[in-house]
Amino acid sequence: MNICKCFQCNTCGTQIDCRIGMSNRDVQPFQFACPQCEERISFVFGTQNGELTGASEVEDFKGPFTGANPFVDLHLDFPAYYGEYQMGMTTFLRVTRELGQAGYQHLNQRLTMLNVLYPLEKELRSTITQYKRGDIENFSKTCVKIPGVALKSRKKQDVLAALFTSTSVMSSPFTIHEHNSEISSKSSELFMWLHQQHRDKTIHFVEEILGNNFLKNLHNDCLSLYPKLVSMDLPFRPAFFYDYADTEHLGQIPARLSTADFEACSNFYKDLAEVFARQLTFLAGVNNLIKRGDSDLFESTMKVTKAQKVRPELESLNSFANVDLGSKLAFIDDCFYRVDMNAVDNKLRNGIAHYKYEYKESTQTVTYYPSKEGMSREKYHEISFMAFIRKSLLLFREIHSVNHIMKAALFYCVLVLDKEI
Ligand SMILES: [Zn+2]
Repeated sequence: MNICKCFQCNTCGTQIDCRIGMSNRDVQPFQFACPQCEERISFVFGTQNGELTGASEVEDFKGPFTGANPFVDLHLDFPAYYGEYQMGMTTFLRVTRELGQAGYQHLNQRLTMLNVLYPLEKELRSTITQYKRGDIENFSKTCVKIPGVALKSRKKQDVLAALFTSTSVMSSPFTIHEHNSEISSKSSELFMWLHQQHRDKTIHFVEEILGNNFLKNLHNDCLSLYPKLVSMDLPFRPAFFYDYADTEHLGQIPARLSTADFEACSNFYKDLAEVFARQLTFLAGVNNLIKRGDSDLFESTMKVTKAQKVRPELESLNSFANVDLGSKLAFIDDCFYRVDMNAVDNKLRNGIAHYKYEYKESTQTVTYYPSKEGMSREKYHEISFMAFIRKSLLLFREIHSVNHIMKAALFYCVLVLDKEI
């Protein structure tokens, strides 16, 4: 169903024609910028008062649109396109045409699941809080509120299983199921293989990352990202579309989100990048074990620079941990886990972290300045808000995948080595 409305901007008086495609989410908050003056206009469907801000509705408006006013297409579940109004050519119609029946149905299943799951964000948050506190009594009460989660006993392995089911179920609309199950089974096989091939050094690695709390802290940091993700379901919804469509030209497609603004989402990418950078330390350790039978041993040619100077940061895994995200990947030789490079953008991360970016809401364009240029700002990169959200989604998936490998490490500690985690 589509609703057509005409709004008048409170700031500049411009009249804006607006077509709103309805989704099945119970509450539907929309937001866009006045194409004339950039003022934010927002309203909500599914609540009592509608909460229209930034504009007023033109009361005597009678359709159809004539093309005299700027036009905005909105839909929470799909990318909406900029452009001229075409009667009947709704976002929904365009999406179903582009994806075909099978693609659309699969996408729709995930959106439906998200409609059911997103209201359980608080339950997920409590489950994680109680796990971190080690309060199994409260944990047992909260985790079972999430569909598909059961706690068999208070044993550590059952608590871990319930925890991982909670985060997996709650993030399932955001991730790719087949990929998750593959990495999950391969990771446990990997630790069994390491236990047979490099027993002493594998135990040494695990004891090191348990002893300095690295594994526990990293795991806790990963966990915190899940409720944040679920609480941001609105901006992520339209990015699912690109799992089915051609993403090669995503940067050039003027696709827009119909809700939320960049500021509200930028920190999440920064958080994801921070956690992923720490996960790379874990991955490097495992990779070193696989390749050279020692988690501290980096590939020998990498340990010196071209000028034959020793790189102190590759002397051990502990010193590698201080390397920043941009350089870390280059020091992991032929990583056993293939990182999706579309997800990682250190320049973007730096632009956000150093608060050097501008966001134009009417065109949803982010301009960021990652270079150190003294007082000036000249070298810039641009990314659309949609491409940015897509990147955040891909980076979350990377973290979720590595979390599966960490899960295998945790189960290895509990089940094989009988260690406290
Ligand atoms: Zn305006």
